[in-house]
Amino acid sequence: MAKVYFTSSRAPVREPHKWYQPSLSGVNKLERLLNKSGILEDIEKGEIIALKVHFGIRGTTKSLRSMFIRKVAQMVKAKGGEPFVTETTGLGMLREQCFALGKIEAAEAGGYTPQTLSAPIIIADGLRGFDSVGVSVDGSQLKKVYVAKQIAEADKVISLAHFKGHMNAGFGGALKNMGIGCVAKTSKYDAHIYSPPTINDNCTECGACLKICPVDAIIDWKVDVEKCIRCQGCAEVCEENAISFKWTSSKDLSERFVDCAKAVLDLVGRENIKYVNFLLDITPQCDCCPYSDNAIVPDLGILASDDILAIDKASVDMVNKAPVIADSMAQNADDKFHGMYKWAHPSDQLNAAKKLGLGEMEYELIEIK
Ligand code: SF4
Ligand code: SF4
Repeated sequence: MAKVYFTSSRAPVREPHKWYQPSLSGVNKLERLLNKSGILEDIEKGEIIALKVHFGIRGTTKSLRSMFIRKVAQMVKAKGGEPFVTETTGLGMLREQCFALGKIEAAEAGGYTPQTLSAPIIIADGLRGFDSVGVSVDGSQLKKVYVAKQIAEADKVISLAHFKGHMNAGFGGALKNMGIGCVAKTSKYDAHIYSPPTINDNCTECGACLKICPVDAIIDWKVDVEKCIRCQGCAEVCEENAISFKWTSSKDLSERFVDCAKAVLDLVGRENIKYVNFLLDITPQCDCCPYSDNAIVPDLGILASDDILAIDKASVDMVNKAPVIADSMAQNADDKFHGMYKWAHPSDQLNAAKKLGLGEMEYELIEIK
């Protein structure tokens, strides 16, 4: 049975003369959680440690607070490790979040800088999102995954995931942080979209897609599928709705990004990856949205584990047991994420990870005060 460590976000001080208790701070609780869970124990002097986060995009207001990332970076440094905070580019070629410089600019707008994080920011899949290491994987659906180069080169990875809902996959936690967040653009495409794009009869031959295509894969108003590296730039730039592609179903998206997570775990080594899920500001949508709706349940706390499946299962269970916040998107349902997004089943991610042997569904929850 996997161990999942938990610290509550509550700080219920009522006596006025006892108000000053720094030990109740969420940041200090995180420090105790990491120390007592042993999550950072294996870090050796000089090792390069990737802290994988999601900065959100411009407009997201409830992504993971920088002070938590900063604490982890400082604890890694105290162990002799060399931390960097990392993210990957989004699908597409045009929007700010789709290339490294824009991503860093948007991170700054969200309050994430080397100064606030106490560590440098490195975009793991390079300037435009294609720096990667190809990994063969015996996944449920994918057989090849492109792991972001700087994730592949790190000695160890710590996943710092803001746990929240996701419109298509039901929820986003450690599995998504590894499976979507640690892969280059081509694998993001393969997770989200079934096959390379095609050009349909709406095409006016304006030439915009030719200019954006990074590999000149559009010849005579047709996509050469052998050349196409699946970036989605052509669909993003076409104003005529002349690029046809098909989004994956909720189940297939979940299975595909779990395949991607497997490739990351296989490449970096399972023993070299640890997971922290922050059940704070549990919004209905993921941090890829340029807004953040009200949370669906109250803040719950922080979880830590070395098991990617157990930590996500425990996080889902905690959300399902929590009371719903009135007027939020969630309703009182046994499965709150499925209750919001009828087409999405959170169990799809969990079952896919179980099938691939990524971790354990059963866990022991150990509270750290
Ligand atoms: S951008 Fe759209 S309309 Fe223009 S050439 Fe490409 S497919 Fe045709
Ligand atoms: S044809 Fe392929 S590589 Fe070229 S822009 Fe479209 S998706 Fe990207």
